This record gives sequence, C-alpha cells and structure tokens, in this order.
Amino acid sequence: MQILFGKRIADGVAVGLARFIEPLIISLPTHSLTEDQVEGELNSLDLALKAVEQDLNVLLEPKLVNQNEREILETHVQILQDPELYGYMTDAIKAKLFPAAKAVNEVFTYAINVFENIENELFRQRAADYKDVRDKLIKKILNDQSDRFADISEDHIPIMKEIDPSQASLLQRKHVRAIIVDSCSPTSHAAIICRALGIGLVSGVENLRNVAQNGECLIVDAEVGKVVVEPENEMLEYYAQRLQVEEMIRQKQLSQKRIPCQTKDGRRILLKANLGVSEELDAIADLGSDGIGLYRTEYLFISKDTLPDEESQLADYRNVLEKMAPNPVTIRTFDLGGDKLSHLISSLEEANPYLGNRGIRFSLSHPDLFKTQLRAILRASAFGKVQIMFPMIIDTQDFLEAKRLYNICKDELYAEGHEYDPDIPLGCMVEIPAAAICSDSLAKECDFLSIGTNDLAQYTLAVDRNGENVARYYIQHHPAVLKLILFTLSNAANHQTPVSLCGEMASIKEYVPLLIGMGITELSVNHAAYYQVKNIVQKCDAKLQNTIKLFTMDSPLVKVEELIYQTLKPYYSGNGR
Ligand code: PEP
Ligand code: MG
Repeated sequence: MQILFGKRIADGVAVGLARFIEPLIISLPTHSLTEDQVEGELNSLDLALKAVEQDLNVLLEPKLVNQNEREILETHVQILQDPELYGYMTDAIKAKLFPAAKAVNEVFTYAINVFENIENELFRQRAADYKDVRDKLIKKILNDQSDRFADISEDHIPIMKEIDPSQASLLQRKHVRAIIVDSCSPTSHAAIICRALGIGLVSGVENLRNVAQNGECLIVDAEVGKVVVEPENEMLEYYAQRLQVEEMIRQKQLSQKRIPCQTKDGRRILLKANLGVSEELDAIADLGSDGIGLYRTEYLFISKDTLPDEESQLADYRNVLEKMAPNPVTIRTFDLGGDKLSHLISSLEEANPYLGNRGIRFSLSHPDLFKTQLRAILRASAFGKVQIMFPMIIDTQDFLEAKRLYNICKDELYAEGHEYDPDIPLGCMVEIPAAAICSDSLAKECDFLSIGTNDLAQYTLAVDRNGENVARYYIQHHPAVLKLILFTLSNAANHQTPVSLCGEMASIKEYVPLLIGMGITELSVNHAAYYQVKNIVQKCDAKLQNTIKLFTMDSPLVKVEELIYQTLKPYYSGNGR
C-alpha cells in the first residue's frame, strides 16, 4: 500500500481500479496541398464543422444532458460557428495550402495559446473548451473513430494528463465516481462540472505514474487530495464503511427535503441557495430550498466570449426562474469590477480595484450594459418570481439611481408591449460598513436587504478576503462585523424590511447557531452546505436566543470565540457534511 497526495479540486470519495488514459495522439498531415486539392479540403472542413455541430445538437436534446453540460455544449457550438475562426481556417487552406486538419490545428492552437496566456484564471480555463472542439474537429476530418473511453465503467478511476469539459460529462454518464489528472485549475469548466456532479477530482498526485499500474485498486479521497494505491484490507473496510455512512446521510437528507426549515421552537427560517455558475442549477433545484437568495450574474460575463445581450440573458434568467418556480430567485445585478472584470469590457486600471469602480458603481457608469441586464430581468419576471438586488451599495444615493434606471426600463418595456411583473422587490446588499451604518435609511427605501459578510468582513477589517498573508486577520466573526450585522437587523426590523444573509458565514456550520440566535430569519448558503445548515437550524431553540441576547458584542474576540466554539458547540457538533 502506498499513500500519495495531490491537490483537492472537487470533493468525492471512490474506490476503484486505476485506468490510465493516454492523451489523444493524432498525426496531422504535413504535406502541402496542390491548388486543385484546395476545394476538396475546404469541403472537408465544412463537413467536419457541420458533423461536430450535429453531434453536439444531438447531445443538446432535452433529457440527454443536464443544465451543467448544456451551457458548455452551447459554448462549443458558438466556437464552431465563430466566423472569425472560420475565416482564419479557410485562409490557412487557401493561402498556406494547409490540409484542413492542419489548418484547424494551427488556428485553434493559436487561440488556445492566447487564452492560456491571459492572467485571469477564469479566461485561462477557456483554453480547455477550444482544445475540446479542436480535437473533435480534427478527429472528424481524419475520420478517426478511436474512443479512449470505450471500456471505462463505474468500476474505474480514470487517470489522465488533463481533462476537458466534454470528457468530464462523458465520464459522468459512465458513472465514474473519481478522476485523477496531472493538472487542472480549480476554476476550470471541467472542475466545476465535477463539483456540481459530485465526482471527486484530484490533480498533480506526486509519483502516481511510477507507483500505480493499470488495473490496480485505488482509493481516492478527494477531500484531502489523497490517493491510496493497493490499499490494505483495513483501509478498504474503513472507506467501505464511510461510503455506506455517506449514502445513509444522503438518504436521510433527501427525506428532509420536503420538511420546511424551522427551529426547534417553531421559528420558520427561510433557507435558500446561492447560485454562482449555471452548472450548479440542477443540484440547487433539487434541494427543495426556499429559493435562490443570491444569483451572482457576473459569471454570465466572465465565462463568455461575447457580451451576453438582452435575449441571451433573458434565456438564462428565465431558465433559472422556471427551474425554481414557485420559489423566488434574487438576481444580483453584475458585481463587475475589482478582480471580476471581463476582458470584453475596456476599463481603467485601478490601483485598488476592490475600492474602485466595482458592483453598482460599475453598472451605473455603464448605463447601457446595466439597462440591458435590467430589461432582461424584467422580461424574465413574466416566467417566475424574481427579486432584484444591487451590490456594493453604500447609501441610498446609488440605490435610488439604480431604481430610476430600473423604472425607465419598465416604461420602455411597457411601451414595447412586453410582459413583466410590475412589483418586483428591489433590495441591496449590505456588504460595505457604510451600508450597515446607513441601514436605517436603506431599510426605509429598499424592499429587502441582504448581508454579504464576505465583503463586509473584508471592508470592516481592512483585510483582503483572498490575501494569504493576512488570512489570520480575516475573521468573519470579529465583534466589529457582528455588531454591524446586529445594527442592520435592528434598523431593518424598525421598518419591517426583511433581511437575509448570503455571505459564506451562513454556510459555515460553527456560525449558524450564532446567526440564528442573533435574529436572522433568512439564510442563503452554498448548495453543498445546504442540508448541514438545515440540520443545525432544526436544533436551534429559544434557549439559544436567550444565550445570545445576554451576550454583549462589546466583548473581546476571545469571548466571542468562547461563545461560538464552546457554548454554542452542542448546536452544530455531530453535523458532518
Ligand atoms: C459577499 O460579499 O458576502 C457576497 C455574498 O458577495 P460576493 O462574495 O459575490 O462578493
Ligand atoms: Mg460581495
């Protein structure tokens, strides 16, 4: 037995047989065409483009793919239909006299290099989509029918150099439970698919290729990036038991699906989910939640090659609303700027992007882009229940300006004869200390508030939320943050304005009793933590409320930690995910 470690990319545990899958080796034609062969090669390119598109369209038939894969396959169709790429490929055939397969390879490889050299991680992962389409096209042109995955079954753990999105989908259809790759970015589409589908994914396992052989037994424990080669019986038994327990927990959670989320003393807590990328939608729709409390729409920009227009945004929002109906979806308008800036929008370089033209500020300084989004949301509201929320608000001024533009969009749509819900609740995020401090006036103007503790902690404590050097200062439960939450709750209560909390705090088990005890009645959590949070809420009682009421938030941090990690422990202990 040998225990090896790699990087955790997507959680999941599996026991299976090692199956090395070697990279696709295609020998490209190297000869130059004669003039009279050009027409024939242009023709094979067209036929291949059509055939690959047809294959993708077959997969896009409803029922064959889930929402996770649909988005990605649609992106691949867009790549195939890209007129610019087509122009470059036909030029390479006509002017350079390249055979079609070589032309595809040259043009796509150039695009792949461009993406791989973009600094932003989210764009770099686009390279995988182009590789995927390139390989499919070249295989079609060369009539290569080899299938490297033909004999893979649920008993196998594939080991590959890298993984592209369509391979992740394909392996999921073969019921594979874990995959090992030499390298993979945690934000790649393939990683996102694995995470959304519960497939364990580990990358860069040191020495694996020297230690493991095809057909040997492996245990993959992706949560800790562990791979065990030829495990001993004791280890196998431990994991068999663990898988059994996990299955029991899953069944128990499913049985909880229809039970509303309420505390032991009967307080109804609305428990919603956060939607980041559309790959998560199916899993979220399946939770039996009270809706989506935060839909981070900026991802519509970040992962696309073109700016999403009104129609394509409408299709996205409509799909989410219809999937979640009759429960509401809180769509947060683009939180662009900061590090979430699309390469598709030109903007000024900023010395402190997190303090710069981010969120609502960015939207208000790009009114056309903002109005396109508002129009799309309004039109989608005819198909489900929606709320609109604005990010990075500091006081009522930006909120009222956003509302003014929203009303203009409403008037325009009315004049154009479009249907929409005339009473969409408008709210704002409380994620900047100024917003919490001004929460009295905000609560008066807004239909609802949502506390974003990720940024609230960042801006209150002046700590970069992603900064490794200062991670020890990023204390979401710092009394300063908790006092701002309490202040917001009390101001909102004075105006009967509902408040939810959608930052990561809501998904961290140790914080759930604290938040419920502080009087929060709505949480929006990441879907992986959903049932765990629900379980903890169900354990909360009136005694908890009293304990928190008696606690003074002016206490030093150590006292707050004593409260969370000792006094409140019985409420969350024994609640593994
Ligand atoms: C937050 O800041 O808590 C929040 C939910 O928004 P995001 O994480 O998208 O910045
Ligand atoms: Mg935020």
